[in-house]
Amino acid sequence: MTTVDYGGWLINELSLAVSDLVNPSKRVSILYFASALFFAFVLFLFRYGKGAPRRLSALFSWRLWWHPSARVDYALWLCNRLILSLLFPKVITTLGVVTWLMFQLREVGLSPLAMTIPDWSVIALFSLCYFLLDDFSRFWLHWLMHRWSWLWAFHRVHHSAKVLTPFTVLRTHPVEGMLFYGRSLLVQGSLVALFVTLFPGQVSLLMIGGVFVATYVFNICGANLRHSPVPISYGKTLERWLISPAQHQLHHSAAVEHYDCNFGVVLAVWDRWFRCLQFGSDQQKLRYGTLSTLDQAGVFGQYLSPILFLGRGLNGRQAGLIKTSLVNGGKAKARETTQAKPE
Ligand SMILES: [Zn+2]
Ligand SMILES: [Zn+2]
Repeated sequence: MTTVDYGGWLINELSLAVSDLVNPSKRVSILYFASALFFAFVLFLFRYGKGAPRRLSALFSWRLWWHPSARVDYALWLCNRLILSLLFPKVITTLGVVTWLMFQLREVGLSPLAMTIPDWSVIALFSLCYFLLDDFSRFWLHWLMHRWSWLWAFHRVHHSAKVLTPFTVLRTHPVEGMLFYGRSLLVQGSLVALFVTLFPGQVSLLMIGGVFVATYVFNICGANLRHSPVPISYGKTLERWLISPAQHQLHHSAAVEHYDCNFGVVLAVWDRWFRCLQFGSDQQKLRYGTLSTLDQAGVFGQYLSPILFLGRGLNGRQAGLIKTSLVNGGKAKARETTQAKPE
């Protein structure tokens, strides 16, 4: 690749990143931010009347959007994009995974079902299985990232945000980005391969598009505000089933009593199942971050932090000592550490 090609590649990738801001298939889309804001305003208007605009005012402060932590969010978003486009093998596509898995399923003798099932039933079954498996696998991988110190070493980059903005969702170490991409390929690939094998001619890759309707609804209904300074609770009854923005903010809290709770993305049932669900509140006032020097680190510091963190662990000091105790009536217990700090 020549120098000119690198220049073209850089401009192309950066313009693609900026175009994400108006792409409805991306979480950072301004469209979702606007609709989430509208959703929150209507909800607060209903709950607090004239107090609604004041509750949302923190979202319009330059002190939020230009906070050093928010600037690291933006830098990580752009740098991760460049790194992943260079490193991650784009040859591994859903289609490739589906083809390979279908071959494996045929090898173990799986064949089309003998009975005829209407197309709409197959589509409904596929959509339900996809939604549940996708949401559970996100929850489970996130849960593992808090359980295993070598995964926490990467995930703590996300938790080092001192302020939450809709861009904080992209504040991740590239290794975490690759793990979640691999998860998505595996979930999509295995379900499509299974359904194409069992119901040939009744399933197409386009069906996955139908599943995204649920994701759109989720994003429109405030999902973008889970990384924001505005706590929005859905109320205890609904929060037993769906994770609210306030519940994800509790997940980011630096307070010991909030460690290792609310790992879910859409459904709260997985957190209930693993006994780590906590309810949110519109009134909660939280402090975010890991309370370590990582919270002040720039992009390079964030990228290098897993090596340093695990290095400390290998020296027997800290990294391997993180433990989570997820017991007692659905309440998450504190991670035990050698220090009074969260890591
Ligand atoms: Zn987390
Ligand atoms: Zn988060």
